[in-house]
Amino acid sequence: MQIIDLRLPACYNVAELYTGLAYPVNLPRYPLRINVGFLLNQPVGTRRDIHFAFPDLRLSPDLEVTDFSGVVQITRMVQGMFVEFSCTANTGLECVRCLAPYNQALATSFQEVYAFRRDQVTESGLLVPEDGNIDLAPLVNEYMQLEIPIKPLCRPDCKGLCVECGADLNTETCEHQKSIRVSP
Ligand SMILES: [Zn+2]
Ligand SMILES: [Zn+2]
Repeated sequence: MQIIDLRLPACYNVAELYTGLAYPVNLPRYPLRINVGFLLNQPVGTRRDIHFAFPDLRLSPDLEVTDFSGVVQITRMVQGMFVEFSCTANTGLECVRCLAPYNQALATSFQEVYAFRRDQVTESGLLVPEDGNIDLAPLVNEYMQLEIPIKPLCRPDCKGLCVECGADLNTETCEHQKSIRVSP
């Protein structure tokens, strides 16, 4: 079995992934960044849980969520960090039937390996950056985007709007609905 000596940073080759070096951890700009450095010197199999909770969170320019709650479990492996993540949140959407804004509940979870070395990456190509700061936001955004319904509905049985007069059929009835019902 190959054991990586993490005291030799020369085996890293991730300079091009250096995006956050100039910023301290826990700036609001990187709310989902975690520093895994504290695990590097721990025995293989060591696991830590980190919890997140934000009333508002901007995952990307086109996805803002509220009531974000998540947990990440990080396990020190021989060749990298095994990251298990799960979260729930709400996001504001517009119902395709009645056009009303509503809060859509979202939930997702994923497992990924962040490798220590480029020649050990999994097919997702994730590496532990040299500074030990893993920013989960891009992945969380990717997975949460997949949870957004293609046809958002404020509720499964939304009755929508009358095509004739635009009445919200969830809250009112109109003459057009009556005529549709009696017509053959
Ligand atoms: Zn609706
Ligand atoms: Zn109508």
